Parts: sequence; C-alpha cells; structure tokens
Amino acid sequence: MSDQTSPFSNELRPPSHLADILASVERLYRDEVAPREAALRHRLSDEREYLDRDGKLHPELIQARREIMRAAGDAGVYSAHLPETLDGGGLGREDMICVEEKVYGYGCGLNPALLSWSEGATPRLLYCHDHQREQFVEPLVKGRKTSLHGVTESGAGSNLFDMQTRGVRKGGDWVLSGAKAYITNAFDADVAQVLAITEPGAGRRSFTYFMFDTREYLNKGYRTGRVYQTMFGDGYTGEIFFDDMVLPESAIIGEPGQGFDIAVMSFNYTRMRRAGMCAGWSQYLIEQCLDRVQNRQIAGQPLGANQGIQWMIADMYIDWLQARSLSLEVARAIDTPGPWYALPRPKDEIRKICALKVSNDESFYRVADRALQIHGGLGVMRDTQINKLFQIARNLRIPGGTDEVQRTTIAETLGLRFDQSKSVATRKA
Ligand SMILES: Cc1cc2nc3c(=O)[nH]c(=O)nc-3n(C[C@H](O)[C@H](O)[C@H](O)COP(=O)(O)OP(=O)(O)OC[C@H]3O[C@@H](n4cnc5c(N)ncnc54)[C@H](O)[C@@H]3O)c2cc1C
Repeated sequence: MSDQTSPFSNELRPPSHLADILASVERLYRDEVAPREAALRHRLSDEREYLDRDGKLHPELIQARREIMRAAGDAGVYSAHLPETLDGGGLGREDMICVEEKVYGYGCGLNPALLSWSEGATPRLLYCHDHQREQFVEPLVKGRKTSLHGVTESGAGSNLFDMQTRGVRKGGDWVLSGAKAYITNAFDADVAQVLAITEPGAGRRSFTYFMFDTREYLNKGYRTGRVYQTMFGDGYTGEIFFDDMVLPESAIIGEPGQGFDIAVMSFNYTRMRRAGMCAGWSQYLIEQCLDRVQNRQIAGQPLGANQGIQWMIADMYIDWLQARSLSLEVARAIDTPGPWYALPRPKDEIRKICALKVSNDESFYRVADRALQIHGGLGVMRDTQINKLFQIARNLRIPGGTDEVQRTTIAETLGLRFDQSKSVATRKA
C-alpha cells in the first residue's frame, strides 16, 4: 500500500524536516531495491535458492545488499543515525523511528539494507581513533564495508562476565584467544569488532574492544567456523575463532578497559533500533491482513466480515499503536538531554530503553502470530513474507539482550536488586 492509501497515513505524519530523507528512502526503494528484488525474486521466495551449497547467504543476495547499502550511503540514508562528525545524518532517535518505519514498512526483502544494522555503521565507531578513520570508519559509514560484532560466546550470552575470550599484552601487541558464537555477518564481514577480557577481575574495566580487517587476518590467527541454521534460515550467523591472534595496539577501539561501557552503549542502540523496525513491519503486516480479509471469500462473504477476524486485526492495531507510542515517548526522553550516545547515561533512561525493546519485541511477535493465523495455510508457507516475518519476530526476542534480561534490568533499576554479584552491571542489558 502506498502512504496515501494506507489507513495509517493520518497517524504517521512525520515532521516536515524529514521530508527530504523520506523522499530519498522512497526513491532508493523504487530505483535500487525494487528492481533487485524483482530480479532475485526466486532467491528471496525460496529458501533453497536463498542459501548457497554451504548453507550460507547466496553471493548474489550479498552482492545486491552491498549495492543497496552503497547507494543508501551515497544518499545519506544509510548512516542517518550517526552524528555529523562521523559524516552521518545527525538525526535523533525520534526522527530515526520515522525513517526506520518507512524503510521496514516495505516488508522483509532487500529493503533493510537501506539502513545500517549491526553489520554496519554502529555507534561504536564514535570511539575509533583518527588512524582508524580512513580504513574502517569512512567505508562503514558510507556502506562500502560491512562489519561483525563479536561479543557472545557459547558459554557467555546474557552475562558478559562469563566471557572467556582473552586479550593479553605481549610487548607492544595484544594476543587474542577464544571463540565467539551466534555472530551476525560472520562470513562476509570486512571488519570485525570484538570484545575481550583484558584485565580479569577489574569489574567493568575488565573489557576492551578490538577492531581489525578480517581478510588481512584470515587464517593468520583469525578464522570462521560453522554457519548456524537459524529458524529464519538467514545463512548469515556463525562462529568465529581467535587462535593466539596477534594484534597491534592500534587495533583497540576507545581505550583499554573501556569495552564494557562501549558495549552497553551499542546494546542500547540495538535495542532502540527495535522501535522503527517493529513499527514498520507491524504496519506492513496489518496492511497485508486488511488486503487479505477484504479479498478472501469464505462462504460467499469476505473473510473480514467475521467479527472474530476483525477483532484480531483490531488487536494488531492496538499492539502497533502501544509499542509505537511508547517508543516515541522514550525516544523524546532520550533525545532531550542531548545525543543518545554520550556516556554515561542515567539509570532511568536505561530502564526506558529496556521497556522499549520488550514492548516492541513482544507486540510485534503477537502481530506476526495473528497475521499468520489470518492467512491460514498460506501463512504457514515458508515462501511468504508473512511466514518470514513470523520467524524473524520470534527471533527478535533473543538477540540484543533477551526480553528476560531487559525485565530483570527494569526491576533492578526500580530498586529490586538482591544478588550484588549478578547485578545489572554485568548483564548484556
Ligand atoms: C540470530 C542471532 C543473531 C545474533 N547475533 C549476534 C551478534 O552479531 N553478535 C553477538 O555478540 N551476539 C549475537 N547473538 C547472540 C545473542 O545476543 C544471545 O543469544 C543472547 O544475548 C542470549 O544469550 P544466550 O543465547 O547465551 O542465552 P542464555 O544467556 O543462555 O539465556 C538462556 C535463557 O535464560 C534467560 N536468562 C538469562 N539470564 C537470566 C536472568 N538473570 N533472569 C531470567 N532469565 C535469564 C534468557 O532470557 C534466555 O531466555 C545473536 C543471536 C541470534 C539468535
């Protein structure tokens, strides 16, 4: 549905200062995304064509995504969320929700590549040094390179302090050893950003971020492992290993011991990013359902003539509206005191961001579940966007800090902390 015919058009009403960037998104979708989706329809709609023989995302899809990222980078859309000092668009969270929901409102084909995600220009780049700008920061901001973010390990997910990957100083270098699990973009990333323990027992000062060129170090201490067969068949998530990998001091992002704070800041970003993503996808699903129930005839009348179906759609709308309203409220609160990436952040803000993630994850999951139910057998078919979004919605409740971890953090910041050793300071909140 176009913005004009959508029943949401009156409610969306983005502020007028976003007119140019939203027009750019429309143009990019029309000129860069839609033609590539049409050319690769067979791969996007058939999971056997989506992956290569090794079960990894097919190279043609990787190529198409990279071309879209580059075009979005040139148009100033891809990194609209980053400050102008990094050559980003300088938009705050409230504005970004409008941009994100526009991008995700096109469904789940190649359109998400229009905006930087965890494999792109994350706010960790704010902590890069001058000598890292040309090789890493500029190409990531412009969508010309992609990155991976290596934090989780098979034995260390929700609690960062369970981490085993170590960085040990040796002369002027650092020696990295360990393994990371469930890593998005593990196989195609040009750049790796990896968190390791460099000073065990030093509390939040225990961690340091390292950044390096994956191709330069491949099989020189760095290697990738197996691809995970995720429930949404992305062919994109896998293992990485560091076998006494030697990195220079210049590979550090920020300062030694600053890794924890940078990690939490970037988890905050990942969680806030749920807002426009879930709003856009929920909107897309509601529109698909409205179309379906008006046209699907059962016993001589449209499916949508049944009150049971109408109420399901009404509940989808309520979920969309609640999560979106909460997100905008949180975004305004975060934008007000200044840029959201400045550290440290007040505790009540962290609580709000956790609430935003849970609210969006769970609302979107309910919306996707109802959308599938309304589509009947068609919704069960894996080649439909309805089905794909249901799988994605279920997944979203795990990465970026699980919904349980968000709830625990909310409770702790409300004063309910009983076990100091497992406090909010240690979790991937
Ligand atoms: C598709 C996908 C992509 C990912 N991409 C990346 C990536 O790019 N980089 C990266 O570093 N990681 C990535 N992850 C990892 C993700 O961040 C972790 O899976 C997540 O943090 C949970 O960790 P875990 O899987 O070890 O679960 P666990 O920590 O073992 O948790 C298991 C269950 O216990 C619950 N639980 C844990 N602690 C508590 C508590 N205190 N109270 C109540 N319940 C609790 C959790 O909520 C969860 O339900 C990805 C994961 C997936 C699925």
